[in-house]
Amino acid sequence: MDSQVTEERDLREARPVWADTPRISVASRKTPRLRRYDVIVVGAGISGALVAHGLADGRRSIAIIDRRQPVRGSSMASTAMIQHEIDVSLHELSREIGKTRAERVWRRSADAVERLKTLVAELGISCQMEAKQTLYLTGDEYGARALAREASARKVAGLMADYVDAEQLKRDFGIDRTAAIRSDASASANPAQLTAGVLRHARKRGCEIISEVEITDLHTSSGDVVLATSTGHLLLAGHVVFCTGYEFLKPLAGKGHKVVSTWAIASRPHLELPEWLSGYLVWEASDPYLYLRTTRGGRLIAGGEDEESPDAYLSQAKLKAKGKAIAEKIGDLLGCAIGTPDYVWSAGFGTTRTGLPMIGEVPGLKNVHAVMGYGGNGITFSMIASEIIAAFINGKPDRDVELFTFTAG
Ligand SMILES: Cc1cc2nc3c(=O)[nH]c(=O)nc-3n(C[C@H](O)[C@H](O)[C@H](O)COP(=O)(O)OP(=O)(O)OC[C@H]3O[C@@H](n4cnc5c(N)ncnc54)[C@H](O)[C@@H]3O)c2cc1C
Repeated sequence: MDSQVTEERDLREARPVWADTPRISVASRKTPRLRRYDVIVVGAGISGALVAHGLADGRRSIAIIDRRQPVRGSSMASTAMIQHEIDVSLHELSREIGKTRAERVWRRSADAVERLKTLVAELGISCQMEAKQTLYLTGDEYGARALAREASARKVAGLMADYVDAEQLKRDFGIDRTAAIRSDASASANPAQLTAGVLRHARKRGCEIISEVEITDLHTSSGDVVLATSTGHLLLAGHVVFCTGYEFLKPLAGKGHKVVSTWAIASRPHLELPEWLSGYLVWEASDPYLYLRTTRGGRLIAGGEDEESPDAYLSQAKLKAKGKAIAEKIGDLLGCAIGTPDYVWSAGFGTTRTGLPMIGEVPGLKNVHAVMGYGGNGITFSMIASEIIAAFINGKPDRDVELFTFTAG
């Protein structure tokens, strides 16, 4: 294996709105206290935070190691629409992986949002976590008939989904589209505060957080996994979990996933917006799709304009043009001008062919696990990952593990 186990990328460009909010820093060490840990979690973003917290029982020795400061990866760039709705519709996913499996995935996703909300409430994390409904609008991929079919498929799966026709959509939401699906079971939050909050609780439960240390190599044999660090340490671990976001493990390159470019904006605060919007996440059946939500402070957070290129988001010219385009599209949709955004940022964004995350033990690398919660539901998928990884390491594999395996590219 090469000296770098995960390729370093510029994960994002320009300053996301969350970077200027309080409670996003977490104390960390520069050197590991121990030479051997029961579990080493690589990555201190939302996936690593939830995985470590899910494993921390006060008895296991756990280290979370990041090459950056905690919470400074893609999680800082997230628009944090914590949706149960997956990028690939239930109808489409049923065609790809079969109806029973697709329904299980969708229900698991809805359950994960509920459990994340409960966890945040139980831990008392102050991260603006709010329950939200979703409004999924017709777009260039699906029209009214397809949405009616999708709403029925979701109801059969036991999920709440109301078909909203054009008239009702105009009357209740002031939106001119041919139809929408309204559902519950979603949420929104400040992703940086959420991640930092979970990391702090993981630390309280005994996890050591080590920052600015890179894992540069790994070796597996019959016993412990051996990890080399950029600071010259050799660490041993019973299990290693790579929660490295879009800087994925090199052996997993090309396995049914890719990184594209995406853009996001935050408006000025206290915008005058339609009243219903504060209780909703809005997205559309288009490719690429536009999506939006609000914060408690009355900012509109939105994203979209994705491009296939893995590095288009680095362009300064595009940053300006895409921010303007998103703001204009939202103005058209909501029928109100939102002005020049206070923040425009861009980032790489991992997607998978099926819209599903990949979670589990890495084929051929015993006791090495990876979490690739790619797609628009990355945060929801991180919650699922924390449950699946904890169950595996605790010796009681999760029955849904086979839904999220690493697929051939
Ligand atoms: C613009 C944008 C909008 C998004 N919107 C949403 C949304 O609305 N809803 C949603 O659910 N999801 C959304 N996502 C996706 C979601 O944000 C991600 O799935 C999630 O943040 C990824 O978290 P992570 O912990 O896996 O990765 P990260 O937060 O990137 O953390 C991984 C960490 O691993 C570290 N690392 C990597 N390699 C090594 C190594 N070798 N050694 C040590 N450390 C290493 C990195 O430094 C990094 O800090 C969005 C993403 C983007 C970019």
